[in-house]
Amino acid sequence: MSRRGRIVRIAGALVEAQPMGAVSLNELVRVGKLGLLGEVIRVEHDTAVVQVYEDTTGLELGGPVEATGNALTIQLGPGLLGSVLDGLGRPLARLADQTGHVLLPGIGAPTLEPERRWRFVPVVAAGERIEPGDVLGHVQETASLSHPILVPIGSGGTLSQISGGEFTVDEPLGHTERGTPLTLAHHWPVRQTRPVKRRLRTDTPLITGQRLLDFLFPVAEGGTVSVPGGFGTGKTVIEQSLAKYAAADVVVYVGCGERGNEIAEVLTEFPTLVASDTVHSVLERTVLVVNTSNMPVAAREASVYVGVTVAEYYRDLGYRVAVMADSLSRWAEALREMSARLQEMPGEEGYPTYLGNRLAKWYERAGTVIALGEPERTGALTIISAVSPPGGDFSEPVTQASMRVTGALWALDAALANARQFPAVDWETSYSLYESGTDCWFSEHVSSDWPALRREVLEWLQKDRELREIAALVGHDALQDEDRLIMETARMLREVVLGQNAYHPNDAFSPTEKTYSLVKLVRAFYLTTLRVLRGGVSLDGVEIAPIRQRLVSLRHETPDGFAGRAKEAERSIAKLDGPLLRPSEAQNVVSSAGTVVP
Ligand code: ADP
Ligand code: MG
Repeated sequence: MSRRGRIVRIAGALVEAQPMGAVSLNELVRVGKLGLLGEVIRVEHDTAVVQVYEDTTGLELGGPVEATGNALTIQLGPGLLGSVLDGLGRPLARLADQTGHVLLPGIGAPTLEPERRWRFVPVVAAGERIEPGDVLGHVQETASLSHPILVPIGSGGTLSQISGGEFTVDEPLGHTERGTPLTLAHHWPVRQTRPVKRRLRTDTPLITGQRLLDFLFPVAEGGTVSVPGGFGTGKTVIEQSLAKYAAADVVVYVGCGERGNEIAEVLTEFPTLVASDTVHSVLERTVLVVNTSNMPVAAREASVYVGVTVAEYYRDLGYRVAVMADSLSRWAEALREMSARLQEMPGEEGYPTYLGNRLAKWYERAGTVIALGEPERTGALTIISAVSPPGGDFSEPVTQASMRVTGALWALDAALANARQFPAVDWETSYSLYESGTDCWFSEHVSSDWPALRREVLEWLQKDRELREIAALVGHDALQDEDRLIMETARMLREVVLGQNAYHPNDAFSPTEKTYSLVKLVRAFYLTTLRVLRGGVSLDGVEIAPIRQRLVSLRHETPDGFAGRAKEAERSIAKLDGPLLRPSEAQNVVSSAGTVVP
């Protein structure tokens, strides 16, 4: 049977070729005179149905189609960090250097820089037995990341020779007794989950630096989150904020089918940002996989697998990796388009019936694991994906399928976004199954009352909602003072704790200590004012606005100035409970707090 055929049908990105009975499913093929990259997605008798990953305009019937013998693979090794890959794992930056164009069709460029030399320091010696996943030695990939070089899955045996020195990713640095060369990099098929020794359950949170998320809906390392939201609700801002500030060693950012200028922003901004615990730019810990809306649709389908494969690899090296995908809906749409062209039986809203299954399989690649090989390494892969339901309607299939499999939901709400309450995470419909698991960590590392505080805050927010409904019926003035205090407290929570400005240098990232401190101050305000009310003073007699302004301005305080300002705020709250402040004194309090935010 043949592995070489001719094009007999072209339907958009879908091509049929004959006679090609000997190709296998998911095999990579070269299509047409330009050798466009495509993947076999169905084989019927001697016809191969190929999903072409590149622009098919100009492709002609009768053109050649040739099987490559490989699945869609990417090269894994040092040099991935800081690189920008297209949906097929080809480095965009280097393609641009070579050709002056962003994408040259049919180029199967190596993922990693072929010329660059890396200093390799071995940790094993000739004569030792090596197994898949064992560490052979190290390369210093970036100033802060040491990159273990692993025995590839499927290799092993007795090491006959190994040497330190400077190597390119393809040059042998050693051999096994059977003569298999060992190199700094190896290939891996992106659709295949990388094997691990053991999966673990972890209760360590991935600190996002977003107060609302860390405090109310934390995600555990190795967990999964879906972030659905209609247009303009802040999905991209959240994904990018997390890529910048989340406490991960490595971030893989998959820009899937969204606007190109958003990726351009990442490319110009990330190199200038400094990661919180090092002096190096955040780009140095980031791998970008981009398939923007102006690039071929079929490659979008592949891009999410490329991203998660890079992430699994760094997890296997023993790092904490986070994948941000924006947006999974564009991936699902690419799947739908292919399915329609294949004339498969459509499921809900035209999506293939296997949508949920594929989505679940992809998310299953997240997790905390003990990697294969020695010495023992634990790594984590967290996935946080945006979903873009048309019209913000969460009942649509992609949102539903995502919600069924992810451990947390950060639901973005158009009403909150319209009110410029950002991040527009709806605290009523959002949830996290990692909440109770991560409580222990927060209790130990931040404060023992963290879990209790969260329950209290959620109660206030819930009560506030009920009171607002009542107020809408009977009028605000008909409410009891204590109820009005709850509404004031909830407002303060929204403005001081939950709201966070992604564009303010001191507010964009909130360490857990700052988050905790702000919550405690709001709580102190509530308890103090409650005492005042119970002492017979009416709520109108309490100077709330200056306190609120003071707390809001604390959000924007520099890290160095924060503790001092927080103490001042605490004192001014305590003063509420005492002789009533006269308006003139209240004024002084405001101006001493510095900037007053309206
Ligand atoms: P989406 O990706 O859901 O379409 P974006 O992430 O592009 O929405 O956000 C739309 C706009 O909302 C942003 O351009 C910005 O003005 C505003 N926005 C969203 N989140 C924040 C935030 N945390 N701080 C300030 N502005 C925000
Ligand atoms: Mg967006």
